[in-house]
Amino acid sequence: MGVLMKGIDVANVMKEKLICEAEMLKEDGISPCLAIVRVGERPDDLSYERGARKRMAMVGIDCKVTELPGDIGQEEFEEMFQKVNDDPKVHGVLLLRPLPVQLDEEPVKRMIHPEKDVDCMSPVNAAKIFAGDKTGYGPCTAEAVMEMLKFYGVGLKGRNVTVVGRSMVVGKPLSMMLLNEHATVTVCHTRTVNLPQVCRNADILIAAAGKAKMITADMVGDGAVVADVGINVDEDGNLCGDVDFAAAEEKASYISPVPRGVGSITTSVLAGHVLRAAGAAGSRTKIGIGR
Ligand code: NDP
Repeated sequence: MGVLMKGIDVANVMKEKLICEAEMLKEDGISPCLAIVRVGERPDDLSYERGARKRMAMVGIDCKVTELPGDIGQEEFEEMFQKVNDDPKVHGVLLLRPLPVQLDEEPVKRMIHPEKDVDCMSPVNAAKIFAGDKTGYGPCTAEAVMEMLKFYGVGLKGRNVTVVGRSMVVGKPLSMMLLNEHATVTVCHTRTVNLPQVCRNADILIAAAGKAKMITADMVGDGAVVADVGINVDEDGNLCGDVDFAAAEEKASYISPVPRGVGSITTSVLAGHVLRAAGAAGSRTKIGIGR
């Protein structure tokens, strides 16, 4: 059985550093603040919001939630979003997604100030991730995977990494982050031919497809590192990942569970981004430019 990569252990170590950073900002007269914008009351959103508020409180970041009705129209939604976005007291803005069907996310991706875009919604931050420019903010989940691999001492340089999933939220940005660390990256999707073989050849396999238990034991190479990003509900109504954990753990050298894996790290990454954004805003104020 492989080593269990527990998200909480990673988050606990990150917490100490985050608390120190928040204290230093406060000594400089800056009160770091995250604004969460939620439309409607999707259980996933409410659960993520609870986790984020708890994490922000734990490290000393203010957290404001703007709750909008689930049936809000595009115009009013954009107005409300812009208000939060323009609030000078707010250093980071997190819009909970996906949005209800009547809303188009594209305009707000362009509206959000890139320097407040702590979960990589803006094309500016996405481009920075692809360019390997560390001044941008990556998507928290993709960075959470990187934090987990770093914490467990999983080397990336020259290793074969297979990422299953190519979304802009996880698969693609994560692939770029891995590439920036000199991994040899293969990105898989629904049209990949012979997925089991491509997965089996990986030293490090990252599942981000959103398909319950699709990664079976025959897709895991002996001694591979397996990180599971998926959050799904199985046939018994229990949370599970994309990896068939019970079968894969026999072959993996390291493996992350779901729940209590990657998902437990994302709000710590988010807190880190808010602190960085607050620090940068403080520096801009000192030299008299921008928001
Ligand atoms: P998307 O649905 O946007 O993307 C899924 C990707 O997986 C697509 O690229 C798709 O390929 C690929 N895929 C789906 N099925 C298969 C398959 N059978 N074989 C190969 N590739 C497949 O999902 P997200 O990226 O937003 O999320 C992925 C998972 O991560 C979900 O379970 C989600 O809940 C979870 N998640 C977890 C977070 C956390 O904090 N832990 C945060 C965000 C997401 P194609 O492009 O060809 O359609």
